[in-house]
Amino acid sequence: MHQASEVTGSVTESGNAETRTIETGNVETGNGFESLGLNHESLAAIQAIGYTTPSPIQRAFIPRALLGGDCTGQARTGTGKTAAFMLPIFERIDRSRPDTQAIVLTPTRELSEQVAHESRRLAGKRPFEVVSCVGGKQIRSQITAIKHGAQVIVGTPGRVLDLINRRVLLLDTISVAVLDEADRMLDIGFRPDIERILKRCPTDRQTLLLSATMPPPVERLAQRYMRNAQRVDLSQDRVDVATVHQFYVTVDHHRKFSSLIRLLVQTKPRQAIVFCRTKRGADNLYQRLAGKLSQVSVIHGDLQQSARDRAMRQFRDGSVRLLIATDVVGRGIDVTGVSHIINYDIPEFCDDYIHRIGRTGRLSSGDVGMAFTFVCRDEGPQLTSIEMRINRLLPQYCLETAEELARQRQAAAQTRPVENPASVNVRAPDDVAYSEVGAV
Ligand code: AMP
Repeated sequence: MHQASEVTGSVTESGNAETRTIETGNVETGNGFESLGLNHESLAAIQAIGYTTPSPIQRAFIPRALLGGDCTGQARTGTGKTAAFMLPIFERIDRSRPDTQAIVLTPTRELSEQVAHESRRLAGKRPFEVVSCVGGKQIRSQITAIKHGAQVIVGTPGRVLDLINRRVLLLDTISVAVLDEADRMLDIGFRPDIERILKRCPTDRQTLLLSATMPPPVERLAQRYMRNAQRVDLSQDRVDVATVHQFYVTVDHHRKFSSLIRLLVQTKPRQAIVFCRTKRGADNLYQRLAGKLSQVSVIHGDLQQSARDRAMRQFRDGSVRLLIATDVVGRGIDVTGVSHIINYDIPEFCDDYIHRIGRTGRLSSGDVGMAFTFVCRDEGPQLTSIEMRINRLLPQYCLETAEELARQRQAAAQTRPVENPASVNVRAPDDVAYSEVGAV
């Protein structure tokens, strides 16, 4: 795991009339979770998970959220935001009451399930009921779970509204509402649903908003749902993560596929997400790759939920090494083994770039990640807007020629030990798997 580093950044209190900034470095002392004001049950749960040092967003956000006021938290992706909002939530829950006391909304089903899973780990031995309410899953089991007592709901807006409309989910006992990936939740696609849900919650609730990206107009909009919110901003004008080495690769529209194969052979990802812009593009690429490689899967919003779940499960357990995806897994998804992100299609919006590459080099992996963005000759302006957003120029990555790769394969073949069936599984799969698809 990456060690959490010193907190630098700022906290801003924005009341109606004034805005006040506090340097975060002066507020807390000590390196461990003990200094954050968490109770002994939270500390025991954290210890059992194995976290030793709070990440900067946890160090800055947790003490403020524990005070009960509204907060927005901005920090680079993969830096532990889930624990930053979930640990304070657990300290507010009255365990003698089975009613719903906190709701966390996320933009995708996969992210909701991940947050619910992480929350159950963070609950430790405390008997909190965390129920995931997402579309594509049987509503009946969610209804049963809520009726049985769901103190924390984690869900996607559509299904949550459905449960509200059926009068199964009652939000008048909510004390904390969280918008994870808040800028996405407040964009025009989700905003009406979010407003409907928040209107059902008591006005004296605590509202927490978290994201890696928070454009100023969204930040201003967010104030409509909050009161005297404190703002914890640890992005330090660098929204992309330092633990990801980023490159662009010049490609030809008609040769993208062979460029991808060359990149895979050359860089041998342990696990990679290959992002496409459209569902159909993802399907097409998957069909072509699946003919050449095993351990490939695809995920996008048009697939049956069972297929999406299977792809995620196999990607998480490592049996799938290449996941071809749309931006449905662009935000929040945390899979430790992801070593490479490949933007097969350059993202349409530059914030999507930041979220996509944040799927690697995460706090949990302890390793740097690699991110490659394919850029066709007419896509220079998109590359420039990404570079302006991350405030630096991306270096170019040069693919080796097919001849050079063939020469390397030949040399490797000559030095390979003679195989017998018993030894096949023992050899490192990486080089073999990728070198065998090299001939394109
Ligand atoms: P998140 O940004 O919440 O998705 O967290 C990213 C990853 O970091 C997850 O795998 C967490 O389990 C892990 N994580 C969160 N907090 C810590 C911490 N303080 N120390 C080490 N790992 C952490």
